[in-house]
Order: sequence, then structure tokens, then C-alpha cells
Amino acid sequence: MDCLFCKIIAGEIPSAKVYEDEEVYAFKDISPVAPVHILIVPKKHYASVMEVDDPSIIGHIFEVIQKLAKEFDVCEDGFRIVNNCGDNGCQSVKHVHFHLVGGRQLEAKMG
Ligand code: AMP
Ligand code: ZN
Repeated sequence: MDCLFCKIIAGEIPSAKVYEDEEVYAFKDISPVAPVHILIVPKKHYASVMEVDDPSIIGHIFEVIQKLAKEFDVCEDGFRIVNNCGDNGCQSVKHVHFHLVGGRQLEAKMG
């Protein structure tokens, strides 16, 4: 499978890992938009949220997000979770992932 994030999960491409368990891998975004910018991904390859056939993985990812938000100390001031889906959503890597972004005041504008 020619997928950047599958290669990162497999250790074939280096990453700054911040969390790993049997189902989930999390690492620092290579091009951070804020002091905290972490990508949380399922180890199983799904091209986008529209392919996810096991909703429990999404719940588990959000458990990991809670844990990382505490660890990276963004709970009190707040943060943003982003999932880009498809071309209009500007998804550039076709392996479903959630961005955890925080550590500064973010823009109100979403679009
Ligand atoms: P998206 O645009 O939602 O698909 O997000 C893809 C994200 O992956 C972008 O924020 C990129 O900066 C990030 N990214 C691309 N290549 C790497 C890499 N090798 N290691 C870590 N993050 C990456
Ligand atoms: Zn993949």
C-alpha cells in the first residue's frame, strides 16, 4: 500500500511519535500550524472518515485525544480537533487522521 501514514506507522518513514497502542498511532505534524499540532491516526488504513466501518475506533481516537490534550497542556486554554475529508475538505493524505491543534489563540474562521 503506497500510503505515507501506513509507512510512518510501520516505521519505514521516521516520525516524532507521541503515542502508540494496538489500534492508534499519534505523531507531531511535520509542518505545525501551532505550538501543539499532533496527528492521530488509526493503524488500520481507511482512506477517509467515509470509509471507517468500525465506529469504536473513532471513540478510541477521541480517548487518545483527551489523553494527549492533558499531556500537552492545552485543556485549560482549549484546542481544536480537525478532520479534513476529500478534495473540498482539503484532505492531502488519504489515510484518515485527526489534527489536534492548540497552544495559541486560533482563528475563529473555519472555512
Ligand atoms: P491533511 O491536509 O488534513 O490531509 O493533513 C495532512 C497533514 O500531514 C499536514 O498537516 C502535513 O503537514 C502532515 N504531514 C505530511 N507529511 C508528514 C510527515 N512525513 N510527518 C508528519 N506529518 C506530515
Ligand atoms: Zn494508510
